[in-house]
Amino acid sequence: MCRTGEDGPKGISCILIEKDTPGLSFGKNEKKLGWNSQHTSTVNFDNCEVPIENLVGNEGDGFKLAMKGLDGGRVNIAACSIGGATFALENTIQYTSERKQFGKKINEFQVSQFKLADMSTDLEASRLMVYKAATSIDNKDSDATKYCAMAKRFATDACFDICNQALQLHGGYGYLKDFPLERVLRDLRVHQILEGTNEIMRLIISRKILDV
Ligand SMILES: Cc1cc2nc3c(=O)[nH]c(=O)nc-3n(C[C@H](O)[C@H](O)[C@H](O)COP(=O)(O)OP(=O)(O)OC[C@H]3O[C@@H](n4cnc5c(N)ncnc54)[C@H](O)[C@@H]3O)c2cc1C
Repeated sequence: MCRTGEDGPKGISCILIEKDTPGLSFGKNEKKLGWNSQHTSTVNFDNCEVPIENLVGNEGDGFKLAMKGLDGGRVNIAACSIGGATFALENTIQYTSERKQFGKKINEFQVSQFKLADMSTDLEASRLMVYKAATSIDNKDSDATKYCAMAKRFATDACFDICNQALQLHGGYGYLKDFPLERVLRDLRVHQILEGTNEIMRLIISRKILDV
């Protein structure tokens, strides 16, 4: 995405830069809290010259194209959160049915049962919102951007909380690297930041519902 014209969204164009283009370089692999199976680096463009055929769409279409891509990307990130939270919940249902304290299984304390019920409910709500957002993209719904922002905001927040509760229900073991909970928690944290932060999701939703 490159500024080719006036200030604001209409002055941005989308240009394809081939990997071996002179002036294109990549920064170091960043050290991160999670998402360690994926490299994260800066991408530097230093006076890269490309032929005009590399323009994607028309001049000034860049912002529109980016926004289109981001709707799907947000559903993708929300779905990743649902995967992580499902794994955390399944592990916790299993763990609390085995671990005993004070002569009872952890899942026999009503406080644990209520926590698991809420986690399961929030996970299902996240899943339904993601299905709705994905369907709205398929149907070219004029509200697709709003539904995608809502699903991303809701699912990534709810699923991070589910992982946090799962860790809590594992007690001290949840904090240890011998158990997978701490990794899922670290991996899901960035979903509240990526593909537009959840504050930006709120901005998009409020603009759509307030028409401002
Ligand atoms: C692991 C990882 C992988 C990434 N991969 C990619 C990638 O592949 N491609 C890519 O382009 N980017 C990528 N990013 C960048 C990512 O998209 C940005 O970090 C993210 O969009 C937030 O932007 P920022 O970091 O500049 O935060 P900032 O914009 O500096 O925001 C800082 C804080 O201020 C808040 N804030 C900012 N503006 C407003 C506002 N208007 N109203 C209210 N609150 C506001 C934010 O919500 C946030 O809490 C990646 C980041 C990470 C961590």
